[in-house]
Amino acid sequence: MPELPEVETIARGLAARITGDVIESVWLGTKPEPLKSSASEIVSTLESSRIAGVRRVGKHIVIDLQKDGVARAPAQRPKGGAKGSVPSNFSQWIVHLGMTGRMLVCKPDDPVEKHTHAIATLTSGRELRFVDPRRFGRLSIGHGFHAPGSEPLEVELQLFVSLFRGRKTPIKSALLNQKLLSGVGNIYADESLFRARIRPRRQAASLTKEELRRLYLSVQEVLKEAIALGGSSISDYVDSNGEEGFFQLQHRVYGREGEPCLICRTTIKRIVIAGRSSHYCPKCQR
Ligand SMILES: [Zn+2]
Repeated sequence: MPELPEVETIARGLAARITGDVIESVWLGTKPEPLKSSASEIVSTLESSRIAGVRRVGKHIVIDLQKDGVARAPAQRPKGGAKGSVPSNFSQWIVHLGMTGRMLVCKPDDPVEKHTHAIATLTSGRELRFVDPRRFGRLSIGHGFHAPGSEPLEVELQLFVSLFRGRKTPIKSALLNQKLLSGVGNIYADESLFRARIRPRRQAASLTKEELRRLYLSVQEVLKEAIALGGSSISDYVDSNGEEGFFQLQHRVYGREGEPCLICRTTIKRIVIAGRSSHYCPKCQR
């Protein structure tokens, strides 16, 4: 399952390749699951749109689209609310990769892989293909899309602290709660808690300000390191034959049950919190 750093890496890779290109035509497969918006809305929005940019929002890839020369009069925009400020010739193609989804930039004569659910033909002659064997990925159209929680790499310390204040759930569960922080997955939650020296089962409300400050810095550090590593494998992932995945951040606790802690040699423990595996060092983490 691609986590935040992988999605960031993929979005950057796509941005470098397809920004400025124009979607000429769209083909959609017959499987209904990948389409969160209707097929007709996806086709009509994408066709003749220029790709203004590609970025990550939470664990989503957002492709910003602009229909050149079809700006409508301001009177036709919906009144009131945040959406009213979005010009109507701007829209977004939102891609969630699910478990196995990939966005491939292909040449037209590259063989179309099995489980290809969408092909956008670009004026540059290339094709942007969405491939997803397990079909947990989703394609949709949005306007002013934003993730439900705060962006972990942009949130300020004060807001971060306030997200967890008074929460009676384990801090691990709170980190995974997408309504609080968007995009922190299981691996990075465990790694962040290790670096912040906090046990995953601690009640969020019991954390001191200092512990929350350490956690804030750890989450950012872990995600930034993983993004930096991911940058070197962009081409493997978004090329048409790229199945090699990412260079992994060397995990300090995740998946290391029974192995010695890299700092104190104590055996790493694994417990289950809300159905998810959690790994920690009983000596370093309190
Ligand atoms: Zn330790």
